[in-house]
Order: sequence, then structure tokens, then C-alpha cells
Amino acid sequence: MPVTLYPASSPIYLDGHATTPLAPEAEAAMASWWRTNAANAHSPHGGGHRAAMAVETARQDIADLIGAAPNELIFTSGATEANAIALLGTAKAARQRNEPRRRIVISAIEHKSVLEAATELAREGFEVLHTPVGADGVIDLETLKAQVDHTTLLVSVMAANNEVGVLQPLDAVVSIARSAGAITHTDASQMVGKLPADLGDFDLASLSSHKMYGPVGVGALFMSSACALRPLPLFAGGMQEQGIRPGTLPVPLIVGFGAAARLAKGRLVSDADAARAMTGRLTDALRDLGLEFEINGSIADRLPGSLNIRIPGCFGSSIVSRLNNSVYLSEGSACTSGQIMESHVLLAMGLTEAEASECVRIYCGRYNTESEIDAAASRIAAAAHEEILARWAKRPVGSENERRPLRV
Ligand code: PMP
Repeated sequence: MPVTLYPASSPIYLDGHATTPLAPEAEAAMASWWRTNAANAHSPHGGGHRAAMAVETARQDIADLIGAAPNELIFTSGATEANAIALLGTAKAARQRNEPRRRIVISAIEHKSVLEAATELAREGFEVLHTPVGADGVIDLETLKAQVDHTTLLVSVMAANNEVGVLQPLDAVVSIARSAGAITHTDASQMVGKLPADLGDFDLASLSSHKMYGPVGVGALFMSSACALRPLPLFAGGMQEQGIRPGTLPVPLIVGFGAAARLAKGRLVSDADAARAMTGRLTDALRDLGLEFEINGSIADRLPGSLNIRIPGCFGSSIVSRLNNSVYLSEGSACTSGQIMESHVLLAMGLTEAEASECVRIYCGRYNTESEIDAAASRIAAAAHEEILARWAKRPVGSENERRPLRV
């Protein structure tokens, strides 16, 4: 099948793990709160009361989406901050209470905001254990069981991974942690708004608005009313958000987050079905175009729309840069201070460094159309073809095992 090259003027956005575009409904809901209705939600006048009511409506809408009560939600600047409060704030509370439990158990594939908070706690003397995942990206429950005991303060396992989209068996995680009396936390930022999520069994859960078509710069920490150890705030300066997160509430962002939650709740099933159909369409088209690739992670336990593929013979970073102005996707690797490092997620799933360097992550979201997916498939296949040809041309003389160029 011939590769169709599309004009570079219409980039296709397939990077929804990084951030999702703002829903028009959320944008419209926010509009008046920047200027016309601008007020501090804690001011003692009519404008302040109206802003406070708008915040509480949003809180209710977000709580409804995750099976929580509104007073169990603390607004934060995003999931990074919610994760930090969950881990560092819980450890702070434990220290203040002279709690003897000193072990923190997290999965090996957590987002950096959890991994690095745990590393900070390790420096402070906590014992941090990482639970491995299998080749499918799913946590090894037997190891988790062995790691969690009466010394465990907190167990944190993400709901859906931000690189491979793999979903974790949250019920089993909660039951293992609970039976040892540990606090349970999940970073649910990639899952909430995309799949039905009942997080009420957790003590703590992190949410991010801009992963579910809400505005960037706001998120929430779910803190169960049954949580035995309430996290302490990480900084001082106000009694907002039950004293756990001081600071003036960003009313427009919270209103937009609430609108995005309400919208997502009404279309969870249709969005998920459409996203699954899009990823199926994309993988079928890539195969039809003759591209050889492997899907990383479980196919069955996967966030709808999420796809992480390895294209043997192609550097993920080269594919991303070849598609720089035509398809927005990203690598399966994290870039830290200018240095490319292979993804800790893919390495934890057993890929070699060389294999992990050949991966790209793709997200087919709510606003992608079938024609965009078809065009993206052509562009990705073309970029991979160019890359394989370029590497073929540079292969060492006599290297039998170099991959042959594609016939596309
Ligand atoms: N956790 C996960 C799984 C994420 O994907 C992200 C965003 N990359 C975060 C946490 C951080 O979220 P935020 O941008 O809202 O701070």
C-alpha cells in the first residue's frame, strides 16, 4: 500500500498521556470566572460567596466521578502535588505521631512524582520497596504480598500507567495493604475521567484535571473520611482545603475541572469505546502499511486509547523528531535535564535498553477523528520507513542481522 504524505501544516495530536486538550464545555464554564465573576472564594462578600458555591459545585461533580463525598477532596495544583502530599504528608504525620511503621511500598513503574517522593523518604530513613511488574506491566501481587507487613506505613500503586497505559489490579492491592493495616494510595490521574473509577476504598488518591480534558494547573487529592492517618500539609500559610493545602483557590481552574468531570461522567462509556476503536484502527492501519511493531504491555488491562509500540530498528526519539510537525506523540523514555534515559517503566517490564529506545507512546483521545488516525498511521509508517532506511544505509559493513528496509 503506498504511503500518503500529508501536508505538514496539520499536526495530529496523539500525546494525551502528557496532556489532553481542554474540552470546549470546560473552557466555556471557566470563562466568566477570570474577570466578570472574579472573586476570592474566601472573601466575605456576594462575589466571594458565588465563587465559593462554584467551587463546591465543582467539588461535588469531581467527587461524583470517583465515588467520593465532596468533603473528601482537597484541591491541589495537580497530581504531582497530590502525590507529594500523599507520600510526604503521610510520612510527616507518621513521624509526628511516633508511628513505628517505616516501610513504604510502591510499584516500580510509578510516575516520577511518586518515585522521587519515595526516594526523599528513603533519604530520611524510611525503608522503600519497589514492587516489580511482569512483562505485561501488571504488578506482581505475590511479591506485593510478601513486601507488605505490619511495618508498612503506605502502599502506593498507580491506577493506569502514563507510558504504557496498563491498568493495575487495584482491588487486590487494597486488600493486601488493608490486611496489613497500611495506608493505601493510588495515583489515578491517568484513569479518572477515562474509565469508571470507584476510589472510595482507597485512603488517598491523586487526580489531575489536564489528563481528563480539564484545564492544566489544578488537581485533587482524595482523602477518605475513613483514613486513619491524615497527611500533614507540606507548607504553611492558610487554612484553605482543611488546612492540608493552603493557598488561594484557583476558582476558574476548579470550575473548569468540575465541568470536565461532569462531561466525562456522562460519556465514560462512549469515550472509552471510541478510544478503543481508534487504537484498533491505528494498529490495523499500521499493519496494513507493512510496519512491523510490537505492543508493549497487557492488551486486556489497558486504558482505552493508550498504545505504546516498539518498532524494531527505529529509535523512538528519531520517530518523534521525524514527525515533529505532523504527528505529536512521544517516546517511551523520559528526558531528564537534557539527558535521554530509557524508560524505567519499559525496563521494569523486561525490555533491554536497546529495545526501550525503540518505543513510542501514543494516545488516541476524545477529539481525534478517524481521518486523523488514518493520516497518523501513514505518517508514522513513513517516518519509520525513512528511519529504517537511514539506519540501513549506516549499518556496519557485513552486518547480517541489520533489519531490511520496509516495502511501503
Ligand atoms: N502521575 C501521572 C501518572 C502522570 O501521568 C502525571 C502527568 N504526567 C502526573 C502524575 C503529574 O500530573 P500533573 O501534571 O497534574 O502534576
